Amino acid sequence: MHIAIIGAGVSGLLTALELIEHGCQVSIFDQQQAGQAASWAGGGILSPMYPWRYPQAVNTLAQNGKTLYQQWNQKLQPLTGIDFEIHDTGMLIFDESDFEIGLNYAKKHREPMQHASYLDGNPLQQVNSRINSKLEQAIYFPELSNIRNPRLLQSIMAYLKQHPLVRFFEHRPVVKLHIQQHQIGYVLDESGIKIEADQFVIATGAWSQHWSQQLDLDIPVHPVQGQMVLFKAPAQWLPTMCMNNVMYLIPRQDGHIVCGSSMAHCGFNTLPDSTTKQNIVDACLEMVPELAQFPIVKQWAGLRPSSPTGIPYIGQVPEIDNLWINAGHFRNGLCMGPASAQLLRQLMLKQPTDINPALYSPERLSKPVMV
Ligand SMILES: Cc1cc2nc3c(=O)[nH]c(=O)nc-3n(C[C@H](O)[C@H](O)[C@H](O)COP(=O)(O)OP(=O)(O)OC[C@H]3O[C@@H](n4cnc5c(N)ncnc54)[C@H](O)[C@@H]3O)c2cc1C
Repeated sequence: MHIAIIGAGVSGLLTALELIEHGCQVSIFDQQQAGQAASWAGGGILSPMYPWRYPQAVNTLAQNGKTLYQQWNQKLQPLTGIDFEIHDTGMLIFDESDFEIGLNYAKKHREPMQHASYLDGNPLQQVNSRINSKLEQAIYFPELSNIRNPRLLQSIMAYLKQHPLVRFFEHRPVVKLHIQQHQIGYVLDESGIKIEADQFVIATGAWSQHWSQQLDLDIPVHPVQGQMVLFKAPAQWLPTMCMNNVMYLIPRQDGHIVCGSSMAHCGFNTLPDSTTKQNIVDACLEMVPELAQFPIVKQWAGLRPSSPTGIPYIGQVPEIDNLWINAGHFRNGLCMGPASAQLLRQLMLKQPTDINPALYSPERLSKPVMV
């Protein structure tokens, strides 16, 4: 079976990996350089921030993210020479209003990676001596990790590009679906070149609403900009991830510290600005004041593929037999990525599914309302 995947972010790339492992032939198309959009820009925290604020359907996909990435890294690293750098740092959350609900959530759900405890005083300082002494208490999730997402993408792309079952096309925007009798016959790229396949997958992230009109569906996936600031400290300088008021610090293994993030509805604008940078820096220095001694080495913005509940659309597009979607992961596409791709592969190949697909069904995509 030949499958064309539109979009080479983490959703499209992991879908490609899943499909070729099961013997499918895959062609993957991106409108720009692959792996440079939200999946590159994200922080790589392998859990929803404050999981109790999300629907269970999001946490269900996210909870196996780390294990699945570990398995993929073990397979790909010897072949590509690139380590995903899954960094087991744990996470401290300082939002006092979340302490009780967070601890109860951890106790009730007992999800992998979500064990939590309350810390104050000495035990807190022992876990992370860099935090502001004014922050006297926190809840601590010792098993949470982050992944170095740009390396993850590089490794998957290197693997796919040398794989005999894969054809990889960058700078090839797909613009039109040719639909006849509930089937996609082919799709057209920007230059009008026909792309034929047996099955097609939409994995176009924040750009997914583009397909609404052609499919006569309302696909409510919009870009929500998030900005990040990168510091460079010595390796091991910051021992844990830290979070307060939805702002976070993510230490990488080599001492880089990713700080973010903002939220803005400003279309497809990916230009970072100085006011947002200052807000991010202020919020992070409030958690870790000594960070101020280290240089800021980069700032960027990415476009999250927002969806109304944050639950992605995964499955067959209504009324089109050979069109599938894996999009709308909003703030959690990196942690939900591996399980989302696994679910889509199971559905496409008519295999038993590990999780209930109904929660993610594209049947939720309603027809646009006529006015
Ligand atoms: C600042 C920020 C921080 C984040 N932090 C985290 C985090 O810590 N943990 C987490 O789990 N998630 C995080 N996220 C969210 C996560 O990055 C996204 O949910 C995820 O990357 C979405 O992946 P995707 O493949 O669906 O989209 P993308 O990575 O955006 O990929 C979509 C691809 O489709 C291509 N495309 C679009 N239209 C077409 C077309 N017509 N033809 C061909 N190609 C097309 C695009 O060029 C793009 O490469 C963060 C996001 C941001 C912006």
